[in-house]
Amino acid sequence: EAKKRGRGSHVFFDATMNDALTDALRLEGALHQAVPQGELTLHYQPIVVAGTAKLHKLEALLRWTSASLGPVSPARFIPMAEQSTLIVELGNWVIHEAMRQRAAWQQQTAHPPIISINVSARQFAQENFVPMLLAATQHHGVQPSAFELELTEYTLVADNPAIALHLQALRACGFSISLDDFGTGYSSLSYLARFNLHTIKIDRSFITNLETDARSQALVKAIIAMGHSLGLAVVAEGVETPAQQAFLVAEQCDYLQGYLFGRPAPASTFLEEHS
Ligand code: C2E
Ligand code: MG
Ligand code: MG
Ligand code: MG
Repeated sequence: EAKKRGRGSHVFFDATMNDALTDALRLEGALHQAVPQGELTLHYQPIVVAGTAKLHKLEALLRWTSASLGPVSPARFIPMAEQSTLIVELGNWVIHEAMRQRAAWQQQTAHPPIISINVSARQFAQENFVPMLLAATQHHGVQPSAFELELTEYTLVADNPAIALHLQALRACGFSISLDDFGTGYSSLSYLARFNLHTIKIDRSFITNLETDARSQALVKAIIAMGHSLGLAVVAEGVETPAQQAFLVAEQCDYLQGYLFGRPAPASTFLEEHS
């Protein structure tokens, strides 16, 4: 950095930056141990049919309790993992664990829930992503139609022909595709025109302000109407209050997810409800 700015410029590297760097290095070091040491688990959060308590899907959310650092939020370690190929290792672990859990549920209940899996851009762009996913379904004895893949705009923005090919192949195999955190990126609309998706998930930031902000209300209405006119299912994320729920039901949002219906919880939590 200092070199790039040229002679005579100064880089201020203070104690706070040093602490932050040390923390980041420690986190990254620990994260390399997460898979081999068995420190990862999946929690599951319900997505319900709007206006009912009926379960539609469960979203798998990664949890990490480091032996040296304790529990670490995915908001912290996922972006770090995404900077290297570590995200591929974590992502593959998530896929196998979600499929193992689905297979277990298939043994235990007549109506096992569909599982929605978050996939990172770098993971999705892997050359062998589709064959890896199919091999995993065969290994665990599960069907692609039992899964939805949640992608973000980061995945679709890449100027990489492999992305469209992977999407097409996955759809053809029977996986559902959803666009997560919809509305937060630079050009959400252009992705809807270019790619054939099944579902959009309206980002929590729009839902949080629904009760107080007329513009959020207008945007959410417009997103739902647009999604429907494109033949997409619409999910609202981060629904926490009955008033938010009422608004979304009135606007015919299809599915709702948020603390109002349930927090992410271990798989065992869902067993009795569905057996
Ligand atoms: P996301 O996929 O958009 O997941 C939704 C996040 O919102 C989850 O946070 C969930 O716990 C939280 N959430 C759900 N309902 C509510 C609510 O009503 N209120 C509030 N305040 N929060 C709610 P979490 O589990 O901390 O995950 C954060 C992000 O980390 C996820 O956002 C996703 O982008 C990423 N992530 C989590 N698991 C995985 C994974 O297995 N693979 C990849 N690539 N990313 C993951
Ligand atoms: Mg998600
Ligand atoms: Mg989301
Ligand atoms: Mg989100």
